[in-house]
Amino acid sequence: MTTMNLPLVSTCSVDGCSYNHDHDCHAAAITVLGASSACGTYVDVAAEAGTDTTAQVGACHRSDCVHNDRLECSASSVEIGPAADVADCLTFQAR
Ligand code: SF4
Repeated sequence: MTTMNLPLVSTCSVDGCSYNHDHDCHAAAITVLGASSACGTYVDVAAEAGTDTTAQVGACHRSDCVHNDRLECSASSVEIGPAADVADCLTFQAR
């Protein structure tokens, strides 16, 4: 897998995150954590953060997801939003 085909964060509905500009995630890449699919890149600081491009999923520790392959995400895109945590991967699907 190259960085060119990492899954895009198609939408993020977490308004309080500094990387979120109009429901687009602008971190270069996010990391999804293992316990509850929490977005480990979520941060709430005063300044707007990130790049001009839409974020990709750089790594995912949720190995019990059907889309997880060697701790990388193989979905075509993912959706992030509030669930168990303030920001979770809503595309998670248990194996
Ligand atoms: S869809 Fe599954 S593998 Fe992809 S980021 Fe979400 S939890 Fe991780």
